[in-house]
Amino acid sequence: MERLRSETKPGAGRLRDYEDITRRIDALAGPGVTVADFGSVDGLPMRYVTVAATTSDRPSVLLTGGVHGDEPAGIEAALRFLEDRIAGYAQSFAFVVVPCVNPTGYVRETRDNGAGADINRAFDGDETPESIGLKALLHERKFACAVDFHEDWETQGFYMYEGGRDTGGVGARIIERVAQIGPIDADSDPDDPPITPGVYPVSSSWGTVGLAPYLLAYHAPHVIISETPSAAWDIERRVAAHLAALEVTLATHAHSRQTGNRPR
Ligand SMILES: [Zn+2]
Repeated sequence: MERLRSETKPGAGRLRDYEDITRRIDALAGPGVTVADFGSVDGLPMRYVTVAATTSDRPSVLLTGGVHGDEPAGIEAALRFLEDRIAGYAQSFAFVVVPCVNPTGYVRETRDNGAGADINRAFDGDETPESIGLKALLHERKFACAVDFHEDWETQGFYMYEGGRDTGGVGARIIERVAQIGPIDADSDPDDPPITPGVYPVSSSWGTVGLAPYLLAYHAPHVIISETPSAAWDIERRVAAHLAALEVTLATHAHSRQTGNRPR
């Protein structure tokens, strides 16, 4: 998403092995966990995972990573969550997880997909296979919240976006937690002020070209975009920050449900 930024990190170009990703996704299949594809691009499957999705009485959560191919910590965080932490949440939530929305960008280590399109600017059109496939997958699904993992190679610290009608300042709690992992980005644009330090609004002025505002408009009343500094922090710290953001968000929604104030 990256405020005012749209260029791929310099030095991109080597090819990564997408099978490393699909192998890990396929290994997740088991009781209550299904693995399927919502399409393919350049012969690479766009794969997603559902957890406890047949149980309707739990808040449903959408988790996405790798919309930009040069932001690997989000993919790793989504996979780690499914591999290591899902057991603690599968009784309370249903999940749809797309660990790597942009396989061709991941392989090339580019922000855009292999055809040069920024998927996160394509959700209001019908020309980009990744956004077309994702929109079809989500078609009639409703989520309590959606979390989209991104990275920013130009910042020194973590920051995030939050949007939604029922938002009760989850962002401030995420920032408080992530500040124990690494510094929060203090770079503040006067034209784009934060709600609280490190937390920016998902603006209605964005329209629905991006995934998060598209989800906010049609599928989820609460959206979070977490942004880790891909050049300034090592990958383990960035993964930890994304997972912390996700866990604070889930804790909030679990609490809302217990108190009968379930997010709509
Ligand atoms: Zn991004």
